Amino acid sequence: MRAYNFCAGPAALPTAVLERAQTELAEWHGKGMSIMEMSHRSADFVGVADKAEADLRSLMAIPDNYKVLFLQGGASLQFSAIPLNLLAAGQTADYVDTGIWSQKAIEEAQRFGTVNVAASSKADQYHSVPAQGEWKLTKNAAYVHVTPNETIGGLMYDFVPETDAPLVADLSSIILAEPIDVSKFGLIYAGAQKNIGPAGLTLVIVREDLIGNAQSGTPALMDYAAQAKNGSMINTPPTFAWYLSGLVFEWLQEQGGVTAMQRINQQKANVLYGYIDQSGFYANPIRTANRSLMNVPFTLADAALEKAFLKESEAAGLLNLAGHRSVGGMRASIYNAVPLEGVQALVDFMIEFARKNG
Ligand code: PMP
Repeated sequence: MRAYNFCAGPAALPTAVLERAQTELAEWHGKGMSIMEMSHRSADFVGVADKAEADLRSLMAIPDNYKVLFLQGGASLQFSAIPLNLLAAGQTADYVDTGIWSQKAIEEAQRFGTVNVAASSKADQYHSVPAQGEWKLTKNAAYVHVTPNETIGGLMYDFVPETDAPLVADLSSIILAEPIDVSKFGLIYAGAQKNIGPAGLTLVIVREDLIGNAQSGTPALMDYAAQAKNGSMINTPPTFAWYLSGLVFEWLQEQGGVTAMQRINQQKANVLYGYIDQSGFYANPIRTANRSLMNVPFTLADAALEKAFLKESEAAGLLNLAGHRSVGGMRASIYNAVPLEGVQALVDFMIEFARKNG
């Protein structure tokens, strides 16, 4: 039986998608082999790859002047690829620091150019997103980098920043969870292993006019213009992850697309935060307007109860509720593939646990 999986990533995938993959795993569409065994340059695989891109474009309403790249290396490799592609010598890139993932992006970018940390919510222990009025942006910055959803802190922007420089966003843990206006961004990137598909694939959605000026010495595999020119197939792409992500895109379309997902995601978040706030036993420290739709960290009234909470929740079929190793506490990631019933089951468990231990 499949349990409810609250892992932050690799994360739950829709059961219907896994079952479909299972039916076509050993032999894909009567071709005598699995999709994993096919040449990435075969007409069959190219068809799968193109359809995945077309479905993603339609789900996110990606304008025609954006390239969609299916890459490897995780979101972390993009921490380097972004400055290599967009930050020329003599320019400055602005970064907003809202927690652990933006810090990692900042540290990596500093290896390749000049970085200005335009704002930080460190003084507020990363419990809120700095208001845009407080940002100290650089005139003629190469780009402004933000992390709209901090997966570990559970902190989410409640606004799309307005910037003169191209806006670059790490959407790893919020992509496809709610509609966004892609045209407001110069570049969007996301590791697949949360709301897209299996680990091993990374999406980059980039405005055409921003590519083609990579720093000299940029590896070809990290050069957006080279990848775009070669259909993300300079070398062998992660074919199975690409295929499975395509199945997730089809599943999302069947659910009614990203607008329908947002409605369910909002319901899920309301149920969980609503209970935490009135429980008197659990707590979430994030400013209400900046609470993440996808990642809900929480603490127990007594940290000594954490071990028992994890053991008993696992026995109840509620998996992976431990917070990130760097912060501790609990965290429930409630991505698209975690159904409302899963969140309700979690809250029922939390009620009972608080009653026994409160
Ligand atoms: N950015 C964010 C917001 C993340 O949540 C993660 C992974 N948890 C990363 C970047 C790094 O992703 P990857 O492991 O794919 O490099």
